[in-house]
Amino acid sequence: MKKITQLKNIIHGGLLMGIMTCISNTSSGQSAHSNPWAPIDPVKLPPIASVTDGVWLKGDLHVHSRHSKESSNNAVAKILSYAKSVGFGFICITDHDNHVDGDVAHNTWVDPEFRSDSLVLLYGAEWTTTRGHGNAFSATPYDHQRLFDVRDQRDVVVGAVKKGLGIHLSANHPSGKDNFGYSYDIVNSIEVWNSSLWSKNANAIMIWDDMLSSGRKLTGRGGSDAHHGTPDSPDKATANTPTRKSNYVGTPTTWVFATTRSAQAVVDALTNGRVSVSANPYSPRVEFYADLDQDGKADMMMGDNAKGTGKPAKFRILLSGKTDADSTYTVRVVKNGSEFGTYKISGKTPTIEFTDTPAATGRTWYRVVVEGRPNAYPQVPESMALTGNMVALSNPIYFNFDPNF
Ligand SMILES: [Zn+2]
Ligand SMILES: [Zn+2]
Repeated sequence: MKKITQLKNIIHGGLLMGIMTCISNTSSGQSAHSNPWAPIDPVKLPPIASVTDGVWLKGDLHVHSRHSKESSNNAVAKILSYAKSVGFGFICITDHDNHVDGDVAHNTWVDPEFRSDSLVLLYGAEWTTTRGHGNAFSATPYDHQRLFDVRDQRDVVVGAVKKGLGIHLSANHPSGKDNFGYSYDIVNSIEVWNSSLWSKNANAIMIWDDMLSSGRKLTGRGGSDAHHGTPDSPDKATANTPTRKSNYVGTPTTWVFATTRSAQAVVDALTNGRVSVSANPYSPRVEFYADLDQDGKADMMMGDNAKGTGKPAKFRILLSGKTDADSTYTVRVVKNGSEFGTYKISGKTPTIEFTDTPAATGRTWYRVVVEGRPNAYPQVPESMALTGNMVALSNPIYFNFDPNF
């Protein structure tokens, strides 16, 4: 067994390929199978960051400007001033890299309009390939051309380039047209809520749940995929202009709990999963916490990973922001991919607590879905009908996930 543990350590170091066949457990001549890949219970996990020292910032992580060929009336300045007007803290303009042969750096990023005094601007692009789309996110400029150039290589090559660039890579619209067709081992997050049309995300949610249950700690995020802005004059309208009323910046809105108001902190929060998604900038934000020792204070929040002690923990879900005081929200808790419980909450700061015992050995994860009457988004007036009852979703709280997976 010791040998196997050493071997797993080597593999975690990324040095070994395909020599597993040399492991043998046949000392008695019989097949006494021991699976070297069985989930381990991590002995030591990284400490959990403060659940109070930080700032909630909202934004959009999938927007196309005029540097994407099929976009219309969506200059960078128009997007940024709009984002500011709805109270955003960050945004990433993700133009199609194939429209500029990978040279995002000399198109979107050098646009004189690509600057803001109030918004955190992430550097990124939509990696647009024959095997589907992904978004790259970075706090600082990086060599996107390299990611573009490697797009038709095997996943192992793509993954190495991505790692070398030090970027956050995210699977876009993982089901349907242009679905992400690479391994989920090379991404940090998955777009589980694309555009205001909530119903088309059902398969994305199924993929996410499967990836979580298989041990991948993968952040779920949103992205409007907005392409079309309001024309400056009626003669500038295009055939796609009407979509501006049903899907635009903020449908949906992604919230991050960042340690500071900086680009690196936003990317880190995204990677760590301290993230929830709301239907629009005015919809309430769902927050999900766990109190492990039941002393009344939260010890961890969504995205965090702790050791299961075998003792009960108290979980708290709250809706913050502008809730509809007269309406009742339905909160669904999903545990390990299955329905765990359904709760009704209402009031000014709707809150619900439940108790459960995460397993002492083996992985456990919980995530939350909030449904109810959506808040109005008058600037995108037809979006609410498309979003239906969907209000918000959280990222999971994790137990016993292997940080070296
Ligand atoms: Zn796409
Ligand atoms: Zn897109």
